[in-house]
Amino acid sequence: MILDNILEEINKAEDIVILTHETPDGDAIGSSLALYGALKSMGKKADVIIPECPEIFNFLPWYEEIRKEGKEEKYSLAIALDCSDIKRLNGFAKYFETAKTKIVIDHHGSNTMFGDFNFVNPDSPAACQILVTVLEYMGIEINKGIGACIATGIITDTGGFRHSTIKPETFEFTAELLKKGVNISSIYRRVMQITSMRQFEIRRIALNRMEFLEDGKIAFTYITKKEQEELGIGVGDHEGIVEFGRDVEGVEVSIFLRELPDGGYKASFRSNEYVNVSDICLLFGGGGHPKAAGCNINLPLEQSKEKLVSETKKYLK
Ligand code: 5GP
Ligand code: MN
Repeated sequence: MILDNILEEINKAEDIVILTHETPDGDAIGSSLALYGALKSMGKKADVIIPECPEIFNFLPWYEEIRKEGKEEKYSLAIALDCSDIKRLNGFAKYFETAKTKIVIDHHGSNTMFGDFNFVNPDSPAACQILVTVLEYMGIEINKGIGACIATGIITDTGGFRHSTIKPETFEFTAELLKKGVNISSIYRRVMQITSMRQFEIRRIALNRMEFLEDGKIAFTYITKKEQEELGIGVGDHEGIVEFGRDVEGVEVSIFLRELPDGGYKASFRSNEYVNVSDICLLFGGGGHPKAAGCNINLPLEQSKEKLVSETKKYLK
């Protein structure tokens, strides 16, 4: 059984590196820190590497221990969390590739199975929910600290328990965390509700120019590099914009483009009922989940929009 292999590899590893996907969200950071806390409680030597981490997660335990770089020497074990594709480990794939053993723990249906051991469950709404199973199997007590990290990933990746991906276990695990004293309400408010002023301002810009195409079935908006620079937009500040379009009555697909510092655009896709946006993003070299996916596109704004919208149109009823 794959969990036995994972446990055995962790037990024999001398040092472990924990990696996650670029532009990390609550599930990426929550799962990385939960595993880090768990490995520390086992007395393991571990590094968690996240080059750019949104400040809103600074309330999480071990946040201060996140490293921007790994060590020079090779790690004996690398564990990638919440990451579907080795390309999404960004410049940090080197720590994964050079490690003696590689483990992937993830919930993306588009996962390319890039580890020696891949524990991937697309039915799970969050990597953090899979981690509960892994940690329980390993006999690790999910204490208040680890629990706060897990709750963060579950809350953010389910959109605050709203997505159709939620399962009975999502609530059962969360109820357990609540019993252990994890402050679900406070975490919910921090990660789902509070926005910084600059985040509010960039949303205002994106909402102002939001267009509704194809009889209102597609919502489209974008933000430029210049606007992001002027407002001092940092990693994670664009989160939530794409959901505004999705939540308008009649919209099936919401598309949001964010101009990247070194050119090109990052596209975020969300759908409501029937369009599998992961399929669309796969056509552009990206991926994700059926109702939340993304890709990169390297064309000027109008052409990027045209290409993405015309592909999306084919999926509409
Ligand atoms: P977001 O729009 O929040 O950046 O991403 C939505 C979902 O799609 C996340 O699960 C994210 O991991 C995935 N995703 C976003 N961009 C890419 C990409 O370029 N490639 C792949 N494989 N997945 C992506
Ligand atoms: Mn996730």
